[in-house]
Amino acid sequence: MKVEKLHMRCLINGEWRDARSGSTFDVRNPATNELIATAPLLDREQVEEAISSANAAFPAWRDLPARERARMLRAIGDSLQRRSEEFAQLITREQGKPLAESRGEVAYSVNYLHWFAEEAMRVCGDIIPSDSPQKRILVLKQPIGVAAAITPWNFPIAMLARKMGAALAAGCTFIAKPAPETPLSALLLGELCQEAKIPSGAVNIITGDAAMIGAALMASPFVKKVSFTGSTEVGKLLIQQSADTVKKLTLELGGNAPFIVLDDADLDRAIDGAIFGKYRNAGQTCICVNRFLVHESFAQEFSERLVERAKGLVVGNGLEEKTAIGPLINDQARDKVVGLLNSAASDGATFLCGEGARQATSRFVEPCVITGVKPSMRIWNEEIFGPVSTITTFSSDAEAISLANNTPYGLAAYVYSSNLNRALRTAELLDFGMVGINDTAISNAQAPFGGVKQSGFGREGSKYGVDDYTVLKYLSVA
Ligand code: NAP
Repeated sequence: MKVEKLHMRCLINGEWRDARSGSTFDVRNPATNELIATAPLLDREQVEEAISSANAAFPAWRDLPARERARMLRAIGDSLQRRSEEFAQLITREQGKPLAESRGEVAYSVNYLHWFAEEAMRVCGDIIPSDSPQKRILVLKQPIGVAAAITPWNFPIAMLARKMGAALAAGCTFIAKPAPETPLSALLLGELCQEAKIPSGAVNIITGDAAMIGAALMASPFVKKVSFTGSTEVGKLLIQQSADTVKKLTLELGGNAPFIVLDDADLDRAIDGAIFGKYRNAGQTCICVNRFLVHESFAQEFSERLVERAKGLVVGNGLEEKTAIGPLINDQARDKVVGLLNSAASDGATFLCGEGARQATSRFVEPCVITGVKPSMRIWNEEIFGPVSTITTFSSDAEAISLANNTPYGLAAYVYSSNLNRALRTAELLDFGMVGINDTAISNAQAPFGGVKQSGFGREGSKYGVDDYTVLKYLSVA
């Protein structure tokens, strides 16, 4: 695959660069442990160079007519669409997810780029009536400046596309630091930026030590905004590090999604939604269901049907078309899931299927369904990030809402009911940034993605997504 050669370099100031020291890190296929590529371990000076180049490129990029920026963004999206199979194969090789999901991720990323190409032309301010007839109040939306993004491994290109699209649309220049497990598709995206004639320095893609790069970005007075998708733990560290330069942040952090099945739910739809919402990407998405809350009147039927469907999911190498669940990203991820399963078992939870996963030694973890889960258990409180369904029952809507809200996280929640009014009432009372009503496929370019509480703040995608990369300037004209 030609990407192996290309992906050993970072994009800085319009040039492909190796680490000055020659140092690299290995990128391996999580399914086979095969070495796919090496990528540069940049030093601090090179990170500073990326920041300086983004800073130098900012005035010209900001002043480019929005239509020009839009044209380039659209061109990147078009190239990604044209090369979608190449990207999908690469994502599966570096991340492990089934090929069908990688194809979906590429299409989802194209949508973000095309969406923001159009939004670029609609970054409009306001004229507000003043108390004084002599005065005019003008509000301008201006790009904040150099924006940086730190992205996770679970959606290697989609998280980057939705940050880069919004930043470039707003008129910001951009620096991206992809996760070390999955830098390859991100670096290949840099090639598409070059082809689209994005000016030198307007997009930089850098790899290396996360703590060093994170600290350099946070300390720099030139970087005006950082958008981070990843764990709540690292998000909190970035909040602390942002204090010195009073940097604007967007934080898309961890979740603990409840999936509420009310007593009038259509069970067929609920089971379909449960399988998609729980097991895609082997359970490794921030909006994956973490807790099924099922009305006691049909908890048994729901559990039995979920078990039947979960047992039919084929676990294997994502490159094989029949695979529904790929490997977990690495051994630490597997150990975390195994630890949560064993802790739940010793606290009294019951396995309906997948008990063998308690002894998993490979990254291929069989799908599990567990009942009798209680709010005191670790598995209730922690993000599982694995193919594990946990089921708890309730007897009233109020109890379901209270159980669902019993977490410091607030990213996504799901409600299944055949009564739309009841579902809407329930959704309004859930302390989450996004609620799927009879739906678990909630991510798309048109909608504002983001959380509340310790799941973070800021929104990505949608017309609101560009706002996170702008500042308002008020002009008082007398
Ligand atoms: P993570 O450990 O927080 O890592 C995310 C990124 O941050 C990686 O690139 C990582 O690089 C980097 N990082 C680590 N320490 C850093 C530091 N001190 N300064 C700057 N950057 C640092 O999270 P993950 O395990 O990759 O991703 C899974 C988490 O992301 C889950 O909690 C999931 O819910 C969350 N997530 C949230 C959303 C959302 O939209 N809300 C979407 C997807 C995922 P290194 O790997 O080199 O440390």
